[in-house]
Amino acid sequence: MASVSFDKLSKNYGTSQVVDGIDLDIADGEFLVLVGPSGSGKSTVLRMLAGLEAVTSGEIRIGGQRVNHLQPRQRDIAMVFQDYALYPHKTVRENLGFGLKVRGIPGDEAQRRIIDAADMLGIAQLLDRRPGQLSGGQRQRVAMGRAIVRRPQVFLFDEPLSNLDAKLRGQVRTEIKRLHQALGTTIIYVTHDQVEAMTLADRIVILRGGAIEQVGTPDQIYNTPANIFVGGFIGAPA
Ligand code: ADP
Ligand code: MG
Repeated sequence: MASVSFDKLSKNYGTSQVVDGIDLDIADGEFLVLVGPSGSGKSTVLRMLAGLEAVTSGEIRIGGQRVNHLQPRQRDIAMVFQDYALYPHKTVRENLGFGLKVRGIPGDEAQRRIIDAADMLGIAQLLDRRPGQLSGGQRQRVAMGRAIVRRPQVFLFDEPLSNLDAKLRGQVRTEIKRLHQALGTTIIYVTHDQVEAMTLADRIVILRGGAIEQVGTPDQIYNTPANIFVGGFIGAPA
């Protein structure tokens, strides 16, 4: 696990500033949920943290170390995307192992980690299948497994449940919560679903136009929203 901190983090695309001076300290092992309307900069923040997008100005630290100039593979982070991004022609086992192979993890160690993650996620019986032979929920578990086998210090989730139906969403949400408790890892989780935010978060960050509107526990955000925007977005229903 590791802490994550943003110091005046900003991102411009041309003349438009999509992340606007974010200051935030995320504790070791914290489950932080980022919410905000479409276009508010949530994915851009995650992508900068993962090293998939360059920082325009400001600092990102992981475990106290500045990472702005590190390549994605040099950062101890794994990201789970909304569209899963599995390799269609590889088996589940190969999908789980691919990120380990490219990082030079020896084969026997990789196989141990794959079995562990598959057991943890209840997909051990699917290891020889390909993504096309899996349900949406199973694919989502494989996508999580691929992150888990890396044993990263920080997990990033970008709307991981948005392609699942309501019932499955509840199941996988419970699984993610259990995972956090079991691994104790720092998690930064993007969603626009109020229920997900309320049930998963240690703290919630509300973003609007690339800036933070409020940071607080689910209880604080729900009961004492800082302004009408926050209240309308996640506050107590009218
Ligand atoms: P969110 O995830 O909250 O929906 P994003 O971080 O994806 O928001 O996007 C924030 C803003 O940045 C949006 O206005 C989006 O159109 C813009 N944006 C995102 N990626 C790019 C890009 N590669 N080039 C130009 N604009 C982008
Ligand atoms: Mg997004």
